[in-house]
Amino acid sequence: MQETCIIFPRAKVTFDIGRCPQRACFQQTVLLSHTHLDHVGGLPFHVCTREMLSLPASRVIVPQGCGAGVRRLVDVARELQNSPPLEFEVLELQAGDDHILTSGYLCRCFPTTHTIASQGYLLYSQRRKLKAELLGKSQEEIRELRLAGEDVTDTISVPEIAFTGDTSAEFLDGLLDPALEDALKARVLIMEMTFVCDNVSVDEAREKGHMHIADFVAHAHRFQNEAIVLIHFSPRYKRTDIIAALNSMLPPSLRAKCVPLLNGIE
Ligand SMILES: [Zn+2]
Ligand SMILES: [Zn+2]
Repeated sequence: MQETCIIFPRAKVTFDIGRCPQRACFQQTVLLSHTHLDHVGGLPFHVCTREMLSLPASRVIVPQGCGAGVRRLVDVARELQNSPPLEFEVLELQAGDDHILTSGYLCRCFPTTHTIASQGYLLYSQRRKLKAELLGKSQEEIRELRLAGEDVTDTISVPEIAFTGDTSAEFLDGLLDPALEDALKARVLIMEMTFVCDNVSVDEAREKGHMHIADFVAHAHRFQNEAIVLIHFSPRYKRTDIIAALNSMLPPSLRAKCVPLLNGIE
């Protein structure tokens, strides 16, 4: 089984923490898509290591209802180590909720469909831009307005990177969710792609709460992203199987923006 841990240092986050490589320890915030072990197993190590290095306490964002279990997981590790209580923060959020990260990015949760409580995360970069009505004014006029205490800028939120965690394609069906729509416009989308062959049918993949390549193709028109990073391939596949499936199944325009993450796959 491959563990999921995608580090995005610019926002000081790791998306899931199935295991905890050293670089993940230096990202304060863990955005947890769900609590299967291949996504949460490295959390006690993250919390303990940050405490040991005297770094600010880990902050873990989890789907609604998962906070108590996540606390217990870390507490068992603490007990096994016979160490004093560990400082860390757990925050339960649900689809549509916002959270401003320490890095300044705006994090918004969007709905996904898995076998247990789950959600994806979308990070917006926040930029200041001169208000549209001031565009014709001179630098001097704008400076005077600013000195008079007027706010001369608007905040523009740009959807930069989205992460689904484990999900079937079902999250793409049905009514449009504004946060999900933005996730499908983020410059980079990181999405699971567990099944890439017909030995597992689309219906079976949906029952297991995972993405099937044929379901991805059926929803191709929904993805406005510049790049889609595919992760979480079933361990049954070799890297050559995965590349061959992507090349044969995906329409060329979709294939051109898909990047499979094949680290650790033979
Ligand atoms: Zn899972
Ligand atoms: Zn998984």
